[in-house]
Amino acid sequence: MKFVDEPLSASDPKVAALVRAEERRQADTIRLIPSENYVSRAVLEASGSVFTNKYSEGYAQKRYYEGQQNVDPLESLAQERACALFGAEHANVQPYSGSPANLAVYFAFLQPGAKVMGLALPMGGHLTHGWNVSITGKYFQPVQYGVRKDTGRIDMDEVRDLARRERPALVWAGGTAYSRFWDFAAFAEIAKEIGARFAVDMAHIAGLVAGQAHPSPILHADVVSTTTHKTLRGPRGGMLLCKQPYAAAIDKAVFPGLQGGPHDHNTAALAVALNEAAQPAFKEYAHQVVANAKVLAAELMARGFHVVSGGTDNHLILVDLTNKAVPGKVAAKALDKAGIELNYNSVPYDTRKPFDPSGIRLGTPSVSSRGMGEAEMKQIAAWIDRVVSKPDDDTAAKVLAEVLEVTRRFPAPGILLK
Ligand SMILES: *Cc1c(COP(=O)(O)O)cnc(C)c1O
Repeated sequence: MKFVDEPLSASDPKVAALVRAEERRQADTIRLIPSENYVSRAVLEASGSVFTNKYSEGYAQKRYYEGQQNVDPLESLAQERACALFGAEHANVQPYSGSPANLAVYFAFLQPGAKVMGLALPMGGHLTHGWNVSITGKYFQPVQYGVRKDTGRIDMDEVRDLARRERPALVWAGGTAYSRFWDFAAFAEIAKEIGARFAVDMAHIAGLVAGQAHPSPILHADVVSTTTHKTLRGPRGGMLLCKQPYAAAIDKAVFPGLQGGPHDHNTAALAVALNEAAQPAFKEYAHQVVANAKVLAAELMARGFHVVSGGTDNHLILVDLTNKAVPGKVAAKALDKAGIELNYNSVPYDTRKPFDPSGIRLGTPSVSSRGMGEAEMKQIAAWIDRVVSKPDDDTAAKVLAEVLEVTRRFPAPGILLK
């Protein structure tokens, strides 16, 4: 039984080399993709634990397999920590990721073909809020709101008019490229008026909510869905938080409605991350994420970049590069060569195609997790300006050399370079 006890480097050098290379890449680069982060050593360790070997279909004390002596207290601990951190009445920690968590909301509350309302994908929403290529747009009847062209912000009067006209059964708030606070109270009032359920998808902002750097949706929404791996800085996964009257429907929708066995190794890592998120240091991190994003946005605007909505309230920044005459993809690829990682993105009312859009999306969770502050944000804005102004290999190489000097000073959490 030689292979079972060999370390990865001996049993599979190819995969081991890719892991080492990815550690090096994540340590060396300025990572600005707003949905990404660095988890702690402890979260990595828990997600690589023997809980990956276990099956535990069902819920604590009601399982379909034996041997749950450790899984039951583990899952209960994760649920208790989630409820305490967010002030929720009930937590389901089993969704495999954000998209399955959202599907469970549909399954819990709606019949096929029901009308659902969400922020349109090209306006900064998510696929699973009724966009046409998603199962949620095909098996349900989507009504999509947008942002105003002049302000880049959601207009609650428009949302209310649309809701009154269309009368959806479910209303979503939440997005992937919206940098402003959401008026959760106004959404809740609109949903109540038309007798709809109100769901908030806080996938991007969950860590900011946990760290009290962003208003919480918990008291306003019937159900809150989230990923656990973005600003929350946990393992990959999803989670649903709801009021007690909806707990049974939500649990049934996740299992047996949509999923089989939960990923217990992820539950372990989530429990660790939720405990980390309850510490004072996490609150500091969450506030630094927002402070850093505000500085980065202001520095970019000072250099003539068009930041959609004129700034940010959270961790992310959406930039329309139309006035710079550089497509988002060209900018993103040149920046990647310079060691600055972000993604090209559609901007509201984009005249270019989604696979070759006008904008870039960037954010500050990862750089904040490494302890970077306002001085580094100013430097990053200057680098972005240099590369976007002259997106060639020579500029990228020069910026990369400077990037490496800075990233060396801010060790990446969870990564012990060998
Ligand atoms: C990331 C995200 C999701 C989907 O999460 P996955 O884990 O990628 O399935 C859903 N909704 C929003 C708002 C997101 O940002």
